[in-house]
Amino acid sequence: MLIDIHCHLDFKDFEKDLDSVIERAGKAGVKAIISAGVNTESNRKTLAIAKKYPLVKAALGIYPSDALKMKDSEIDKEIAFIKKSKPFAIGEVGLDGTYPEMEKQKIVFKKFIELAKELDVPLIVHSRKAEEEVFDMLSAMNAKKVVVHCFMGKLSLAKKIREKGWMLSVPCIVENSTQFQEMVKEINATHLLTETDAPFLAAEKGKRNEPAFVKQSVAEIAGIKGVSAEEMEKMVFMNYQKMFMAGKRNYSVF
Ligand SMILES: [Zn+2]
Repeated sequence: MLIDIHCHLDFKDFEKDLDSVIERAGKAGVKAIISAGVNTESNRKTLAIAKKYPLVKAALGIYPSDALKMKDSEIDKEIAFIKKSKPFAIGEVGLDGTYPEMEKQKIVFKKFIELAKELDVPLIVHSRKAEEEVFDMLSAMNAKKVVVHCFMGKLSLAKKIREKGWMLSVPCIVENSTQFQEMVKEINATHLLTETDAPFLAAEKGKRNEPAFVKQSVAEIAGIKGVSAEEMEKMVFMNYQKMFMAGKRNYSVF
């Protein structure tokens, strides 16, 4: 009953063997993979992948650095396309302090927060080096369904995210990152999800990541929480259903 709520199956890294990547995920017990688009081309590829593989659900969005390369009119056009495509979730969107033009990033992010609310789908958020800003914007706009992916901010802020009823998704690097281990320890299991961010962030540095690898993350999280891997899988699965499936009748994970 594994879940990968954030990866990028449209990336070149999977061009040659996507069939076997998805087959391995299925064999490992993965029940849903949410693949996130990052720009116009990536969104279309993601939709095609989700159409082809029942295991894959499409999240659509514009990644902060991709948004900076687009004109305002192009961004609006893409947002209209995303709206029309009825995605499973909105993402990957957010703010990134390692890129310039934070004001423009905020304008785009605001549009996506509005869109997610309008479509009533979860928002999968990127918050690298802009964790406080992301939290403040989501709070100010009263966002309801939020998953903060690969959250690297302070533990006190992670707790505030949890108090809002939003969820934090734990990447595979939890296996060797004390920061993520600490977060898992402190955040209630009712608010944790799992992700790979594949092809990135494999537990083993330099290796290509893939959805099947959430199995090891769940084992690690279970160890920290002092429960069996099976129990942890069930908990994450329930969190996934609560966040993503509430009110959705057209989707089935089995
Ligand atoms: Zn990502």
